[in-house]
Amino acid sequence: MSSQLIAPPPTSRPSSAPSQRRPVPKANSARKGDPWDEWYHPDYLKWKNVDWVTLVFLAGVHAGALAAPFFFSWAAAITAGVLYWATASIGICLGYHRYLSHRSFKLTKPAEFCVLSVSAIAGEGSPLAWSATHRLHHQKSDHTGDPHSPFNGNWWSHILWLFVNRTPEQCETVFRKYAPELYDRPMVMFFERTYGRWLLATGLTLLGIGYAVGGVFGAISFLTWTYCLRMVVAYHSTWFVNSATHLWGYRNYETRDQSRNLWWVAILAFGEGWHNNHHAHPSIAPSGHRWWEFDATWCVIKLLRFCGLAYDVKTGIPERQEG
Ligand SMILES: [Zn+2]
Ligand SMILES: [Zn+2]
Repeated sequence: MSSQLIAPPPTSRPSSAPSQRRPVPKANSARKGDPWDEWYHPDYLKWKNVDWVTLVFLAGVHAGALAAPFFFSWAAAITAGVLYWATASIGICLGYHRYLSHRSFKLTKPAEFCVLSVSAIAGEGSPLAWSATHRLHHQKSDHTGDPHSPFNGNWWSHILWLFVNRTPEQCETVFRKYAPELYDRPMVMFFERTYGRWLLATGLTLLGIGYAVGGVFGAISFLTWTYCLRMVVAYHSTWFVNSATHLWGYRNYETRDQSRNLWWVAILAFGEGWHNNHHAHPSIAPSGHRWWEFDATWCVIKLLRFCGLAYDVKTGIPERQEG
């Protein structure tokens, strides 16, 4: 990522006391603000300013996920598991995060299309929205303007920040500022324009497959398991990266934010839980920097590189001073 997009972490040296809890910064007190700081502040969430589309959609998939146990079928459960891995690891961690937001590697065009397809059906927003918001998070992490710092509230960082309605002009301002080069990429803009249709088409397709497999029960089983439940599990896995890994865990590096490495989020989010490593060195592809920090998404990137589908992969994990 170019330096004008994301300010580099001022310090990224290995920490001498990795698990020591550090003083908590005030999220509202660090720097002179940008106009968009207030758009991502909890005070901006008011009844007249709720993003009802997002709220109703998220409420709907959570209701579907709660109903899933009553409509269990092995076909739906196995399909949900595969889709959870594909959308969360390939779509979000590999696609939206390390590929689009941080440009840690390049993909061939067919691979890019496949990756961005599963990114879209993850249901975590359009490519511009995800990438721009994430770059904003890196620039202002745990300081004024961070879109989802837990130091503005745990629930705010986990989910509430998603319910703020921002005008198209406000979104455009932030997208142009933080993801300007994505506007020049036709394939990214194709997914930007068609994002909602991918979500709708996926739901209808899964419903149809379920009906073909098991009639009405099968259709409901597939809808609740492969659409709602797998989406909800992926949502909370991603959201724990925003909330839990800025609160709990150990630190390998001194960074200006409160990012931490948290093993259970690393499992749920396919490597993204090694979040302190990532904040210290955001542009490299692997997130696990010690031998035990298993990073499932990095394994897929290496596989793609081996097959010739990914190239110019940025590695360069810094030398560790063990102990
Ligand atoms: Zn973070
Ligand atoms: Zn990142």
